[in-house]
Amino acid sequence: TVTFVDGVWHDGSPALIGPQSHAFWLGSTVFDGARWFEGVAPDLDRHCARVNHSATALGLKPTVAADEIARLVGEGLQRFSGETAVYIRPMYWAENGGYMSVPADPESTRFALCLYETPMIAPAGFSVTVSPFRRPTPETMPTLAKSGCLYPNNGRAILEARSRGFENALVLDMLGNVAETGTSNIFFVKNGMVYTPVPNGCFLNGITRQRVIGLLRAAGREVVEKSLSVAEFLDADEIFSTGNHSKVVPVNRIEGRELQPGPVYREAREAYMAFAKGGA
Ligand code: PMP
Repeated sequence: TVTFVDGVWHDGSPALIGPQSHAFWLGSTVFDGARWFEGVAPDLDRHCARVNHSATALGLKPTVAADEIARLVGEGLQRFSGETAVYIRPMYWAENGGYMSVPADPESTRFALCLYETPMIAPAGFSVTVSPFRRPTPETMPTLAKSGCLYPNNGRAILEARSRGFENALVLDMLGNVAETGTSNIFFVKNGMVYTPVPNGCFLNGITRQRVIGLLRAAGREVVEKSLSVAEFLDADEIFSTGNHSKVVPVNRIEGRELQPGPVYREAREAYMAFAKGGA
């Protein structure tokens, strides 16, 4: 691990906040996640831009321009060998509370960039079950921010799924439509058509999701973004997920039904990897 903070690169994960920090007390943190593998960091510019949008959405002040974050990533990556796969995590947090302590004082925003080795694992596939927990609406949580404060809900959904023998949770929005998994966006395939939930503010419109939709459409495949029910997922020919961490991964079981990684999943993964290696 290397960490950039306050203008300096540190080895490891230096202690940065105390119990009086607003971020420690009230969760004023935002972050993004991107990947570097085989010498490429696909869509790094978009991940750097998104962390700044997340900061603004949470009432923090993004103090490092997106292109400067990307430049710092390049600087930090020089400390890793080209064989290594790295997780790239820029973050902002607030040191102090502002008016009445509860909102952050944006002037106290701090920035850190962590880079750490994380292997790019071959996608074995994972199982999902419908979670009893739901995604918050934009009225109930700052869903436009990729904020640490949203993730305890994902955490309990994953733990609950694991307690019933599944690896991940299929999480619904407040209306009962499928939103995403605990860690990634979700797609299904039926009769050669690709379907994925339409972004409605209740789940992250992932950068990998948007990239895969664009690549599939460019290859002539129809991708439908609309509200989707659990019943439609249960009846799918294929299900796969997208996220920066492992890119495109098949779902191999939904509730009691086994699924095989299918041709459209493979097409999506291969298109993503070709795009990534094309110098993204
Ligand atoms: N949903 C959730 C809850 C996530 O944590 C992630 C990973 N950041 C995603 C979706 C996928 O987003 P992206 O493709 O931008 O990584």
